[in-house]
Amino acid sequence: MSIRPISYNEDTKIYRMLHEEESHEFDILLTDLQHTVKLDGSPNHDLIVVPCLVCSNTFSTHPVGGGADPLNIQQLFVNKITETGCACGNVEAGNENLADAHAHLSCARMDGTERWQI
Ligand SMILES: [Zn+2]
Ligand SMILES: [Zn+2]
Repeated sequence: MSIRPISYNEDTKIYRMLHEEESHEFDILLTDLQHTVKLDGSPNHDLIVVPCLVCSNTFSTHPVGGGADPLNIQQLFVNKITETGCACGNVEAGNENLADAHAHLSCARMDGTERWQI
C-alpha cells in the first residue's frame, strides 16, 4: 500500500494520489487506472493497478477488499466500474448501483461478507 488515493473530484474524474514512501502527490484520470490481467491474458477484476506518474515503473496493486484503506479503495473500484464498465465484461459503464453490487460481490468472495464498508 504505497500509492493510494487521497481525494477524488467527481466533476473532472481525477484522483489525487499519494506516493507514501516518496512523500509526493499527483493527479491521475480515473480512466487511466486499469484492472490487472491474469497470466493467461484474461482480465482480473479483483485488482486495480495505480501507477505513480512522478516515478517511472512504480505502481501499487490494490485488491477490491481495499487492504489497509478499504473505504477509499472500495470506492475507487465502484468509480472505475461506473465510468468504464468492469474489465470482466459483465457490467457496463454508467450504472453506479450495478457497479457497487458487482464490486461488493467480488469483495465478499475474496475477503468475506463483512469486509464491504461503503
Ligand atoms: Zn512516486
Ligand atoms: Zn467484473
